[in-house]
Amino acid sequence: MPSDVTIDELRQRLREISDLSAAASVLHWDQTTAMPTGGAVSRSRQLALLGRLSHERATDPELGVLLDRLMPYAESLPSGHDDRALIEVAQRDFDLAMRVPAEFSERAAGHMSKTYAAWLTARPHDDFVAVQELLETTLELSREYCEFFPDSDHIADPLIDAADQGMTVARIRPVFAELRTGLISLLDHISNSKQVDDEPLRNHFPAAQQARFSTAVIQAMGYDFDRGRLDPTAHPFMTRFAHGDVRITTRTNESFLGEHVFVTIHEAGHALYEQGTRADDDGTPLGSGTSSGMHESQSRLWENIVARSPEFWSYWYPKLQEEFPKQLQNVSLQEFYNAINRVQPSLIRTDADEVTYNLHVMLRFELELDLLEGNISIAELPNTWHERYRDDLGVSAANDRDGVLQDVHWYAGFIGGAFQGYTLGNIIGAQLFEAALHDTPEIYAQIARGEYQPLHDWLRTNIYRIGRRRTPDQLIADVTGSPLDAKPLLNRLQTKFSKIYPE
Ligand code: ZN
Repeated sequence: MPSDVTIDELRQRLREISDLSAAASVLHWDQTTAMPTGGAVSRSRQLALLGRLSHERATDPELGVLLDRLMPYAESLPSGHDDRALIEVAQRDFDLAMRVPAEFSERAAGHMSKTYAAWLTARPHDDFVAVQELLETTLELSREYCEFFPDSDHIADPLIDAADQGMTVARIRPVFAELRTGLISLLDHISNSKQVDDEPLRNHFPAAQQARFSTAVIQAMGYDFDRGRLDPTAHPFMTRFAHGDVRITTRTNESFLGEHVFVTIHEAGHALYEQGTRADDDGTPLGSGTSSGMHESQSRLWENIVARSPEFWSYWYPKLQEEFPKQLQNVSLQEFYNAINRVQPSLIRTDADEVTYNLHVMLRFELELDLLEGNISIAELPNTWHERYRDDLGVSAANDRDGVLQDVHWYAGFIGGAFQGYTLGNIIGAQLFEAALHDTPEIYAQIARGEYQPLHDWLRTNIYRIGRRRTPDQLIADVTGSPLDAKPLLNRLQTKFSKIYPE
């Protein structure tokens, strides 16, 4: 260690950056759960100030000097040493922050908030023309961002890398292509089979009982309410302020039972990841989930692999019937299980089932690449969207509200890198669960008894506690011995849905 600098000095600087962004997260959480509408103007000013302050600290030249001085020390340590990992990850974050000029970031942020405000009105009015020019500027800004990384192979790679470190178009495309082919053939089989219905889920289910049930489930999963809380919001999310404060939000539909419980479990899956990081990593860049896809793998693993399994409901369904005796007394466990797993090609990504969901996502991913590559223009986007929905899902929206205007992503951020993480998450989640089953074959028997501790412990040891010490690729290889691979997901879906939809 050089005598004039210490790792503690680095930790101190990183903690301040982390605290500033956590303070912004508290303000954002409040904005979406509790703030009166009158607070909007001052809140966006306060958030902009905190964003500027944390960016200034993250790009402080003195941080760069400190990292330069610490690098020989890092390189003298064995790989995997905590100090070495901390210095290397901090260096990556610093390099990334320095690549993008502050002038550009501010210009882009200003444009995004204007576009978001326009989208809030354009979507209910089904008015794509109102956002078309703004979106053209967004596409230009997205290309401009990518140009700060001239050494990348594909124009979209920098935007993908920002969310899913190490992933590239060249890596993702063949894996997605294999998944898409398999899913379209599975969907074809399902469409030609006897259909199941979700009528049992359509009734009046009071919010208070739904909340009581979901709370019991996520507590059993291991979500720690002493270090978290659950609040209602319009668009649910998980947010971390500190190792000791990881919050989740959810929404409730009183006339459809198949939403609230799965949204809550999904967000709790994200929260288990953050709550399960190491306490001594708090305030450093090591102490959080390693990528958007890896994070989504944890939410989807709990939501789909665990909570849409027959074993899970053999334990919980009697308890759900106790909450809703009138609504569910004549609904068998099998009918309920089929209802929550009904496959139905639809227009809306966030309502999609396990089989069609990734088709929605991969279609958006390809559209992003086509836009960035210049194969299609923003003006052509609405019709291309409809055509691809017809091709892949056999459905087509009568309007743009349920077409190109449906997701907030392109209206609040860049075009590129916004969607692949969702499908990567489903792919990685299936790979990790297969590895967990290999190590602990009795996991499903434990799930049938309402016991999640062994699975939770396995995830904590192999994923959560690693934080950002390993890249997504390294982590997948460490845990599964394989590279990114769509087969475990395809195999799981084929096995599961051929039982729900026999010939
Ligand atoms: Zn998620």
